[in-house]
Amino acid sequence: MALKIIVLIKQVPDIEKVRFDVETGRIDRSSAPAEINPFDLNALEAAVQIKEKLGGYIIALSMGPPQAVSSLKDAMARGADEAILLEDKKFAGADTWATSYTLAAAIKKIGSYDLILCGEKTVDGDTGQVGAEVAEQLNIPHVYYVSKIADFNEKNITVISEMDDASYTIEVAYPVLISVTKDVNKPRLPTLKDKLRAMKSEVKVWHAVDLEGFVDLNHVGYFGSPTNVHKVVIPQERYREGKIFKNVEEGLENILNVLRDRRLI
Ligand SMILES: Cc1cc2nc3c(=O)[nH]c(=O)nc-3n(C[C@H](O)[C@H](O)[C@H](O)COP(=O)(O)OP(=O)(O)OC[C@H]3O[C@@H](n4cnc5c(N)ncnc54)[C@H](O)[C@@H]3O)c2cc1C
Repeated sequence: MALKIIVLIKQVPDIEKVRFDVETGRIDRSSAPAEINPFDLNALEAAVQIKEKLGGYIIALSMGPPQAVSSLKDAMARGADEAILLEDKKFAGADTWATSYTLAAAIKKIGSYDLILCGEKTVDGDTGQVGAEVAEQLNIPHVYYVSKIADFNEKNITVISEMDDASYTIEVAYPVLISVTKDVNKPRLPTLKDKLRAMKSEVKVWHAVDLEGFVDLNHVGYFGSPTNVHKVVIPQERYREGKIFKNVEEGLENILNVLRDRRLI
């Protein structure tokens, strides 16, 4: 039996280059090129490696603006067989709950699946909530912070999940959602041939109307979001501070004072 794998892909701005609009508290997405969230590349690579061993079919699923088509084409170049973009003005401004609700509705519309893979977090929103919320909406188990896929077969998958104080080896039967860390693998680069093939492939676009029967539109987008962000504050960047003391004793006394002030001694 070949596995049906859904990979959640979010398009994010290149975080090294993006600017933040302090006035509105929003990311100025026009200030930087967009790309697949780096952790989602690990999720996709994991899916491709499973498919290579067991056979299977990979669907890349994203919710985002029309521009996100380019990231889904990239996902197809990297091994996804099919790509679906959930795009509608009604979906815009969603918080994590409304995002996961809409993604889960699309997965219900897709129908059968064995495995859902996602990144542990995104580099822009960075909440690390969407994967677990999707699993809850679908009423399936999830395993987070997976640093290694130890084993898998047609019925179940064994993964190593990193928690604060321990790592857990967990065997779980499908269907399951797995959220991966960067340690799980090293995503390969698509070849030129793959890129050219993907450029010609079609990305399916599903609007709100296409999710009819699977979604209550009162629960999507900004108006369906229970979270209300009042203010976003960007922390000031702090750099290392250095001091030079020409007198050793004065220097030692100062170091001790700093350590005492910070309750380190
Ligand atoms: C009130 C409110 C308003 C907001 N308004 C906006 C807005 O106008 N515009 C905006 O861009 N953001 C907005 N956001 C942020 C938005 O909620 C998050 O970008 C989104 O919910 C995803 O959360 P995250 O990036 O923290 O994902 P995480 O939980 O950190 O992501 C974990 C994994 O889930 C998957 N995933 C996450 N998001 C998606 C997605 N969209 N499609 C497919 N897979 C996904 C990926 O695999 C990812 O690695 C708003 C948030 C709030 C609270």
